[in-house]
Amino acid sequence: MRFPSLNMQILLGALLGVGVGVYFHGLGAQHPTVSTGLYLSNLVGTLFIDLLKMVLVPLVFCSIAVGIANLRKHQQIHKVWVSTLLFFTFTMMIAITLGMAASLYFKPGAGLHIDMFANAMQSFEAKQMPLSEFFTQFLHGLFVNPFKALADANVLAVVMFALMLGVALIMGGERYQHLLKLLEEALEITMHIVGWIMRLAPFGIAALLIKLVSTQDFAILSTLLTFVLVVVSTTLLHGVVILPGIMYAVTRKSPLWFWRGAREALITAFATSSSSATLPVTMRCTTQHLHVKPEIAGFVVPLGATINMDGTALYEAAAALFIANLVGVELTFAQQLVVFFTAMLASVGAPGIPSAGMVTMVMVLQSVGLPAEAIAILLPIDRLLDTLRTTVNVEGDMITSVVVQKMTAEKIT
Ligand code: ASP
Repeated sequence: MRFPSLNMQILLGALLGVGVGVYFHGLGAQHPTVSTGLYLSNLVGTLFIDLLKMVLVPLVFCSIAVGIANLRKHQQIHKVWVSTLLFFTFTMMIAITLGMAASLYFKPGAGLHIDMFANAMQSFEAKQMPLSEFFTQFLHGLFVNPFKALADANVLAVVMFALMLGVALIMGGERYQHLLKLLEEALEITMHIVGWIMRLAPFGIAALLIKLVSTQDFAILSTLLTFVLVVVSTTLLHGVVILPGIMYAVTRKSPLWFWRGAREALITAFATSSSSATLPVTMRCTTQHLHVKPEIAGFVVPLGATINMDGTALYEAAAALFIANLVGVELTFAQQLVVFFTAMLASVGAPGIPSAGMVTMVMVLQSVGLPAEAIAILLPIDRLLDTLRTTVNVEGDMITSVVVQKMTAEKIT
């Protein structure tokens, strides 16, 4: 009998994790098998995430610097920049439109009243986040002492420094070829280590899913059922139909081909709820399975993991309309436009970590005068919804890489 491929092992790990999680859920948290099982799955799951985070920063740093340097050789830097940013914006706008249209049509929260959730809201204090302050903070966060950014795993700041380094390397030409070579070797060796870590992925993913499924309170989903259905179905529509459809239209690559190549990263994103922790796996799938050139993937994927979040953008917009319904406020068209653009900004500003979208959502609510404390209502279901939106966030980065490669393909040799 042939040993299943890693891709298959990861899928089996995910299924096993969900199955055991459901079983543990049935036994109840007090059961001795469950407490030992949860201890072990927490240990293994956290170790897997630790390993991914360990390689994250060197990987982002080297892949961007090397990617930019090599793009310059092909005179492609400008085209790649522009098409990446345009495509990120385009797909996020579609995602938000979907989320808002479905929310306006199905009106989740319309029959409920915010007072029902008074208890949850009382124990929650929302931090104020006016739009202007958010914008200033975001801009200041871009440029940070690179040593501090590297040590703090501040991905966006590392991306910015590595971009500049990449451009400087090329400006310097021959003079800095040793440094470029060194970074290229460091990138290669980091990807090699990622390969080792991936051998543990089936166990890590099974463990993370056991913990997730067995500790969730599914009953709470039913209180917010219409909202959950609106978010889940529009996120799925975006991830399963729209994004692969656009990819097919531009590149003629079949969605099945994409799923097969992207599966490892999509499952890891689902299990970790973190685009950043998934980034090493996303890079691996994009370059090795989807055959995107490292210079393109090296630029698009790390940047996308921090600023391109279709799932988060959709969620933030839908959640704002849901809360408006709860409060009984009818948003005007102008206010809906404000929600549209702030949701986009809030998702760009959200770091790729679990529940980050909930933090930046305060800004979306405040921009149209909705009560920020209402976020407390969504917190109990956030961990579950975060799985799907992170998966679509990561999918968007991989699809953008494939599309950008096609759009700039002719001239790269
Ligand atoms: N968890 C998401 C991510 O890492 C961000 C969010 O929406 O909370 O992509």
